Amino acid sequence: VRRVLAIDIGATNLRAALVGEDGEIAELRRTRTPERGILKVVGDLVEDLARRADAIGIASVGPLDIRRGVLLNPPNLREPGEIDVVGSLGGRFGLEVVLLSDAVAGAVGEWLHGAGRGLDNMVYLTFSTGLGAGAIVDGRPLLGARGNAHEVGHFVVDYRSELRCGCGGLGHWEAYCSGAGLPKLARRLLRERGEVASRLREIDLSSGPMDAATIFKLAREGDPIASDVVREFSRIAAAGIASVASAYDPELIVLGGSVYLNNRDLLDGEIAANLPEYSLGDPPPLAPAALGDLSPLVGAAAAALGEWRPQVRRKRDRRAPPAPSGR
Ligand SMILES: [Zn+2]
Repeated sequence: VRRVLAIDIGATNLRAALVGEDGEIAELRRTRTPERGILKVVGDLVEDLARRADAIGIASVGPLDIRRGVLLNPPNLREPGEIDVVGSLGGRFGLEVVLLSDAVAGAVGEWLHGAGRGLDNMVYLTFSTGLGAGAIVDGRPLLGARGNAHEVGHFVVDYRSELRCGCGGLGHWEAYCSGAGLPKLARRLLRERGEVASRLREIDLSSGPMDAATIFKLAREGDPIASDVVREFSRIAAAGIASVASAYDPELIVLGGSVYLNNRDLLDGEIAANLPEYSLGDPPPLAPAALGDLSPLVGAAAAALGEWRPQVRRKRDRRAPPAPSGR
C-alpha cells in the first residue's frame, strides 16, 4: 500500500486526507457533519481522492462494531440506527476499508507519530463534542469485542447526578466534560447560583447559543459563572483522568480534542492542580496531542497503511465448559 485515504467522522466535523507511506498528509479537507445522509456526504467529499488511494482508513465516533464495519446508533450523530460505513464506502470505491473508533485511531496516531512515540503504555483522551479514549497497553492498542473498549466517557463520575448523558445514563463523565455536556453543566450552575449576575444567564434566557466556545470565552473575560463552569470542568476532568490512570497504568496520558486543545490556557493549570487529589499514588504525566486535531486521521491512515493492523476476530462458538472430573 503506497497511499491511503484517511477519513475522520466526527460529531461536528468530517475530515479527510490522502496520506503517503511517509505519513505526509496531502489535500486535507474538512466539512461540517451533516444531519442526515452522512455516508453520501463523506463519499462525495472524498470521491476524487479515493480514486488515487490504495486503501481507506476510517476513524469514527462510536459505538461501533469493527467486525461488521458498522456504527451502532451513535449518540453524538443525529442519524439514528446502524450505519454501514465499511460496506457503503468500500463498495462505492472498490477499496479495502479499515474502521476504528476515533479515539482508538487518535491513540494509534499519537502512539506511532505523536506525543506517545516509543511508549508501550499510554492513553489518548479526546475532549470534543463527546469524550473518548484509546489505550495502548503492553505495546498494543486495546480494542475489545467490537472495538469499543475504553468507552471511558460513560464512566460514572457522580452517582447522585441529575445530569443525563447523550447515551441516556446519569452522571457520566461525558455529560460534564464535553462540548455537548458543558452547556448542561452551565445551566445547572446558573440554577444553583440564581443570585449571581452572569452573561450566561442572559444567553440562557434569550435562548442564545450556549456552546462550549462561548462558555470558555466568557470565562476568559472574567464572567463569574462561566469561570465556575470551567473550574468544575477541570475538577471533573482531573477526577476522570485519575480513574483512567488507575484502569490502564499508562506512562503518559495524551490530551486532545477541540474542547481541550482550544482552551489549554484555562484548563492545564487547574487539571494539574486537581489531579493528585484524585489519583492512586503519583499521577502519570500529561501531554497535549502532538498532532493536534489530526490524531485520529493519522491513526486511521496508519491502520490502512498497515503500520499497525486491528486483529478483527470472528465470533467463536461458545463451548460448554468441560465437565468437572469426578473424584
Ligand atoms: Zn453516557
